[in-house]
Amino acid sequence: MAEQLWAPWRFDYVSKVDSQPQGGCIFVDLPAQDNDRENLILHRGETAFVMMNAFPYTGGHLLVAPYRHVSDLLQLNDQELLEINRLLAECTRWLTHAFSPDGFNIGVNLGRAGGAGIPSHVHWHVVPRWSGDTNFMTATAGTRVIPLGLDRAYELILEAKNAE
Ligand SMILES: [Zn+2]
Repeated sequence: MAEQLWAPWRFDYVSKVDSQPQGGCIFVDLPAQDNDRENLILHRGETAFVMMNAFPYTGGHLLVAPYRHVSDLLQLNDQELLEINRLLAECTRWLTHAFSPDGFNIGVNLGRAGGAGIPSHVHWHVVPRWSGDTNFMTATAGTRVIPLGLDRAYELILEAKNAE
């Protein structure tokens, strides 16, 4: 019997901030502010940026998004596609340095039916994984305990980012 493929990025925890004031989009509003630490923004690129998921599946759950408010992959230009993929690679470097995970899940949810919490703005999830953590099938319940505080995780990842 095949083991069920389990992909935590299918559960778009960013959705919990979807109930903010109407018309807002965190992937536009947060980078527009000058408050990266509080907004958990880790990196600003030319066309895309990296932030922590404020409602992570697990410690170190990162999000990569273009600055432009577009909903699907076909609307991204070559520069955005390239930079987003480079940032995804960078995320794995930072997280490896900070937390020594055993693996990663990297993925994007397109549309409500695809599990996207903010379907109007395409974004990627980078979720570090540790051997044995698949025992905890609690992702759908939204009650998973996050052992590492967001602020501490933010600091550790920033240190890792600046380490090389
Ligand atoms: Zn947006």
